Amino acid sequence: MALLRILHYPEPILARASEPVAGVDESLKTLAADMAETMYAAPGVGLAAPQVGVSKRLVVIDCSPKDEAPRLIAAVNPEIVAREGEDFEEEGCLSVPGYYARVSRSAWVKVRFLDLDGEEREMEADGLLAVAFQHEIDHLDGILFVDRLSALKRNMFRKKYKKIMDQQQEQM
Ligand code: ZN
Repeated sequence: MALLRILHYPEPILARASEPVAGVDESLKTLAADMAETMYAAPGVGLAAPQVGVSKRLVVIDCSPKDEAPRLIAAVNPEIVAREGEDFEEEGCLSVPGYYARVSRSAWVKVRFLDLDGEEREMEADGLLAVAFQHEIDHLDGILFVDRLSALKRNMFRKKYKKIMDQQQEQM
């Protein structure tokens, strides 16, 4: 397994829609394992393939509480097939370091995807897991959580993010 480099906004691949995965093979399983290791090391609760420079519809998510055993979900070609309610949770993103904001999401979702055995699965999620699915599937459509902010907040984000990036450059 290997740690992958996480790309940061405004890397162009983060704004592009990813390609559907044609079939689950060994190279996709290796990519999923490497993405999971990278996510846990960051640490984060979700990671989408375009964030590590691979334009494929694959995400890994683990929202299990820290004091419980890990529950890794690897979802290939995930799609939201039903949604209900509204929720505003504070979100962050490994591709947008140092910035957090509340974003409007559905409170409950049903997601259909292929697992790493190529079997079709459906999963219902609420709370943090529902937010994570929506956040990660957005990545596959080239959408970041900051794209879902109001125009005013997005402008504030751009100014603040530039400062965050400048500070990181100075530290390097
Ligand atoms: Zn993200």
